[in-house]
Amino acid sequence: MLSLCLEIGFAFASFMIGMVVGSFLGVVISRLPLADMSIMWPRSHCLNCKRTIAYYDLVPVISWCFLRGRCRHCKASISWRLPFIELVMGGFALAFWLRFGFQLVTLELFVFSAILIAVAFIDIDTWSIPLSLPVCLIVSGLVFGGIDSNALFGARIFGCVFAFLFFAAFLIVSTWVLRRMGRLQADELAMGWGDPWLLAGIGAYVGILGLPYVVLLACLQGIVAFLIIKPQTTPTKDGWQPPAQAIVFGPFLALAGLEVALWGHEMTKFGQELAIFFGS
Ligand SMILES: [Zn+2]
Repeated sequence: MLSLCLEIGFAFASFMIGMVVGSFLGVVISRLPLADMSIMWPRSHCLNCKRTIAYYDLVPVISWCFLRGRCRHCKASISWRLPFIELVMGGFALAFWLRFGFQLVTLELFVFSAILIAVAFIDIDTWSIPLSLPVCLIVSGLVFGGIDSNALFGARIFGCVFAFLFFAAFLIVSTWVLRRMGRLQADELAMGWGDPWLLAGIGAYVGILGLPYVVLLACLQGIVAFLIIKPQTTPTKDGWQPPAQAIVFGPFLALAGLEVALWGHEMTKFGQELAIFFGS
């Protein structure tokens, strides 16, 4: 009986921790692309009337529902994304906890998914990825790889370096080809430099063995989404017009990275000899 209560308590706590982290991610996503804005200061405020939001209106999900998605003072609508991200992170934390319990991999997957969520939403908003997020992925991925005795540390370092070189080469070659074909202006790139850094960060988690699957899944899912949603290229908030027939790639890399981190062990079973070859 006691152990059942404990289990329910831990599950509930993990869900709440996930929601609080999701709430923080909402702030990161809205503020990180703005160069002159700190993550920590000032406290959360309404974007319309600038009034500071009271602590009792900051309860994840519940406050948003209670206020029906509107500011308490000026009734300006508050994005559905905030409670959505809170619920997703709560769900992730709960799922990782139920699946792995008191293991380092639980924390590892949680950190990985949190940074990827921030990357995905910022890339959708701005068509670029602040370098600080991939750097967080690389550092945390390699640190986890170093202290987790189940991780293939060598494969992660190799994955991180190879991912960057591979994607950077692809960026340079495809830009050169598209410029020669006249499809790009002399100052345009085939894709942003954020993508190679992001793949390096994902490589630091999934390792060299997971990397081919990340690229494959990201491309497949990107193409399917491209065909379904018919990308609309509305200008970003700072007035930049994305090229026609283009799609943000970061969210698909993030999604594929998470899929491989979760199910990669199954996918990479046949790569075990390679892992031994790389000396991990
Ligand atoms: Zn307001």
